[in-house]
Amino acid sequence: METIHTDVLVIGGGLAGLRAALAARKRGNSVLILSLVPPKRSHSAAAQGGMQASLGNTTKGAGDNEDVHFEDTVRGSDWGNDQEVARLFVHTAPKAVRELASWGVPWNRVQAGEREAIIDNRRVTLSEPEAAHGLITARDFGGTKKWRTCYVSDGTGHAMLYAVSDQTIAEGIPVHERMEAVSLIHDGLRCYGAIVRNLIDGKLVAYIARATCIATGGFGRIYQSTTNAVINEGIGAAIALETGVVPLGNMEAVQFHPTAIFPAGILVTEGCRGDGGLLRDVDGHRFMPDYEPEKKELASRDVVSRRMEAHIRSGKGARNRFGEHLWLDITQLGAQHIDHKLREVKEICHYFLGIDPARQWIPVRPAQHYSMGGIRTNAHGAAYGLSGLFACGEAACWDLHGFNRLGGNSVAETVVSGMIVGDAIADFCTSSGGDMSLSTALLRECADKVRAEFSAIADNHGPENPAALLGAMQAIMTDKVGIVRHGEQLAEAVRELTELAARSRQVGLRTHRPGANPELTLAWRLQKMLKLAICVAHGARQRTESRGAHFRTDFPRRNDAEWLKRTLAYWTDPAQLVPSLHYEALDVRHMELPPGWRGYGARDAIEHPETAHRMAQIETIRAQLATADRHAVQDALMPFRHLLPTHLRGDNARPGEST
Ligand SMILES: Cc1cc2nc3c(=O)[nH]c(=O)nc-3n(C[C@H](O)[C@H](O)[C@H](O)COP(=O)(O)OP(=O)(O)OC[C@H]3O[C@@H](n4cnc5c(N)ncnc54)[C@H](O)[C@@H]3O)c2cc1C
Repeated sequence: METIHTDVLVIGGGLAGLRAALAARKRGNSVLILSLVPPKRSHSAAAQGGMQASLGNTTKGAGDNEDVHFEDTVRGSDWGNDQEVARLFVHTAPKAVRELASWGVPWNRVQAGEREAIIDNRRVTLSEPEAAHGLITARDFGGTKKWRTCYVSDGTGHAMLYAVSDQTIAEGIPVHERMEAVSLIHDGLRCYGAIVRNLIDGKLVAYIARATCIATGGFGRIYQSTTNAVINEGIGAAIALETGVVPLGNMEAVQFHPTAIFPAGILVTEGCRGDGGLLRDVDGHRFMPDYEPEKKELASRDVVSRRMEAHIRSGKGARNRFGEHLWLDITQLGAQHIDHKLREVKEICHYFLGIDPARQWIPVRPAQHYSMGGIRTNAHGAAYGLSGLFACGEAACWDLHGFNRLGGNSVAETVVSGMIVGDAIADFCTSSGGDMSLSTALLRECADKVRAEFSAIADNHGPENPAALLGAMQAIMTDKVGIVRHGEQLAEAVRELTELAARSRQVGLRTHRPGANPELTLAWRLQKMLKLAICVAHGARQRTESRGAHFRTDFPRRNDAEWLKRTLAYWTDPAQLVPSLHYEALDVRHMELPPGWRGYGARDAIEHPETAHRMAQIETIRAQLATADRHAVQDALMPFRHLLPTHLRGDNARPGEST
């Protein structure tokens, strides 16, 4: 078997993988990137709406800073996230935006003077000061207190991905495309790289690395109705799970986006609502203010999606030949605005629906959109369970997002985590942990296991059709493990998925050749996707509360007393039917922002016994430091800077704020 050596192996050529690769390369390591597709075609390119960072350049962003961004992120997560990670993130995001600007990302800019905008269905005039002219601007997005989502019209991910990809090309980092990581090389303690399958000729290659970083994106394709690209099948997370020692975190935390075109599932960005778009029902009534008087269409995604589904169930859905949906109305924004700031939305509507969104309403319904769960890591991106394995981006559970990620926080996470994790990888490579000795026997054993897996599928002449099984899995996930969940349906889902998993080992292929064989690839991936689906369904069944995007009609309250913890799913024995679930408690005693009301949605959480005590402690610290600056107060509440590489520790400069 061909063997390739490198210091750092990055699996995934999206924004997260590319940025981590750059950070490791800049510290002198040899780095190699694997990708299913050319990096510039990774799913990151589809991000339309923007990237959150508290620059505070605009009138509607004035007064924004890390503290406000932090609070929005923690409330958005429904207190499911790691608050230290959230601090690392909000602190680094402004630096990441500026770095991207220096690499040529053409961020939309502040225009001094007056301009018209639509806020809450009213045309208002906003005035930007001369001093801000030409600085990076921001839009209303993600239900944030301040407008902080930086954007490149509605092609933000595209612009970012191209810029970062070009940087990796400039650094001479090789990318091996159409190469799929199919298994990790490990001995249960340390990771030594990956066994990789060439998708064109079917040959296996061993990539041996001192550090391996998985940045393979989300697993949305386990659902029928999803905004995710066809390559988002979660194989990176699955191969980590299959080591038996690396857990996946919060797999039941799956986000549904309110405005996917119905029924195709193509996303129309939240920027539409941020810029003033409205949701309407079958009667043309704007229903969101009835449910969410404060945030209306801009409540967090989990809340808007649930309100939409409930409104449809109350009989107010519009209907076309594919089923029921609601309407997104952006006509009031006018052709000029749509042509300049929502161009992709216009084209999507034109090409896929045959409508002009400046004149007609867009049929929408919530669809799976984002995977909060993934490979569980520490704040430096080191995976639990295996030394030498790291993860970042949507594939990871770093855990910035908890049970609901904010719009615009994900592309920001990719680059920010890439910066931090890439640096931690470089540290690892220079430490004694970065040294390794891999025996040829272990390598042979790992490769033989993969060969056996593929031949078990290719040589099988069973009765099952992999494409039909895939469709069945996706239907179960959408129907029973979707926006609104119930224990009985979840139990049924787990049972049906485990049956499908057994059937997935009885497939019969029509084409048996090893390379360029989509049927073989699908049959192989199906087994992994089913494992992920079972982790989601089983985790959701066991979590008897409602938190963020995980909503149980039989347990509608958030239960901090019993469920302020993260699910860790392990697949220790290949023969087991469901993962072993362990739980990692979130420590209220060290939280900067103890659990409370999110500011939207339900207001009836069951309190954690430590919350009141921690609240009182925080009040005392704040009173003692009443004259100190906000950084000193923050540091006293929950220090985080020591976790950052030195070059990222400095304060961020902002208009009107002294540093
Ligand atoms: C339609 C849409 C719009 C969005 N808009 C926004 C937005 O406006 N703002 C925002 O913050 N977020 C947005 N998001 C979310 C955001 O785009 C993603 O979370 C983010 O881009 C994921 O980046 P990533 O680098 O983690 O993964 P990806 O960009 O998905 O890249 C994954 C990479 O891994 C490779 N890969 C996968 N499996 C393997 C394997 N086994 N072996 C080798 N390579 C592999 C793929 O080829 C790919 O290169 C949007 C998401 C969608 C679906």
